[in-house]
Amino acid sequence: MADTQGKVITCKAAVAWGPKEPLVIQEICVDPPQKLEVRVKILYTSICHTDLGAWSGVNEAERAFPRILGHEAVGVVESVGEGVKDVKEGDYVIPAFNGECGECRVCTQEESNLCERYKVDPMKRLMVSDGGRRFSTTTNKDGGSCESQRIYHFLNTSTFTEYTVLDSACVVKIDPNAPLKQMSLLSCGVSTGVGAAWNTAKVKEGKTTAVFGLGSVGLAVAEGARARGASRIIGVDANASKFEKGKLMGVTDFINPKDSTKPVHEMIQELTGGGVDYSFECTGNVDVLREAFLSTHVGWGSTVLVGIYMTPRTLPLHPMELFDGRTIIGSIFGGFKPKSQLPDFAQQCMKGVVKLEPFITNELPFAEINDAFQLLRDGKSLRCILQIAK
Ligand code: NAD
Ligand code: ZN
Ligand code: ZN
Repeated sequence: MADTQGKVITCKAAVAWGPKEPLVIQEICVDPPQKLEVRVKILYTSICHTDLGAWSGVNEAERAFPRILGHEAVGVVESVGEGVKDVKEGDYVIPAFNGECGECRVCTQEESNLCERYKVDPMKRLMVSDGGRRFSTTTNKDGGSCESQRIYHFLNTSTFTEYTVLDSACVVKIDPNAPLKQMSLLSCGVSTGVGAAWNTAKVKEGKTTAVFGLGSVGLAVAEGARARGASRIIGVDANASKFEKGKLMGVTDFINPKDSTKPVHEMIQELTGGGVDYSFECTGNVDVLREAFLSTHVGWGSTVLVGIYMTPRTLPLHPMELFDGRTIIGSIFGGFKPKSQLPDFAQQCMKGVVKLEPFITNELPFAEINDAFQLLRDGKSLRCILQIAK
């Protein structure tokens, strides 16, 4: 049993104090896990665009500070709270921002991964069991005793810290011999993208696809479509530096919207003789969503919405446009049920069905987390792995 079990742990975390303010690395207190919770020592974490969105505070309703952001990580269980049965101290785990209780009406059927109790909620900032927070500040930035100022949680996870507390429904046990840095990618970006292709669109061999936005999520869609034998994968991005990487993930054609005055959907219609079978929106831009929708084939084209939209604007479609037979559907966490389906997906990745290594473009120490944020904002990284502990 860990000698920290049942005790408050003092450790370092990167705390967001306000919109667009640099994160502050400081000592915090982390309470022991309560009923059905798990305290995890984070080994590696990385940054996804959704962290950037919450940090920027553009969506005012989502704002909550001080807060510990982060949802892509890998770690080891330090201790578990009452009633936790499926993980124990010493297990290697990845956090899942979209949890699975295993018992609710959604978890007990196949159709959806949106668990009634633990599905992702960007507004959520408190623990489910008692509405409390497990993090608090210390009397000074570098240590001292715990203060009453509590720090908010984020996206069921909060991984920019040496220790975090999660609902046990939001941790997935992994093979301890798996490459840990790569496993952290399964916490969000790669599972989200590959799953959008496999589980939501159900891409079939020989079909054509267009992927809008070639960050980690969009490139993971491409990698998933490649693995399923898509004949053509058209990558669209306003940053041409993403195209080189795209070739590794099976992208066959590239379109930079800045290179032409012609709408992208018209270019895709011309390239494919009428439109692609599936398109994926992975930028979080509503106008791009419309281009993605119109780039699919009339009659059967399917658009999968993956991006997170900070704007209050609604869908950029006229209802009559749906009479063209195109469909549009959202995908959260790639449609994967984390606890019951990710372990098998991790095995497939380890066998090379999906390549993980190319998604790690940078590595930095935890203390340089603000530089890692900047790399993603500048479009210079896919995933930057931050080492928190060994
Ligand atoms: P990223 O910043 O690494 O990649 C976004 C890419 O889109 C960049 O390459 C950028 O150049 C490109 N882009 C942006 N605006 C564009 C435009 N107008 N035209 C063409 N290209 C444009 O982000 P990421 O981490 O890959 O995440 C992508 C999106 O997916 C974000 O909106 C993120 O919040 C969302 N997301 C959704 C889920 C989910 O479960 N649905 C999970 C994770 C991330
Ligand atoms: Zn994410
Ligand atoms: Zn459930």
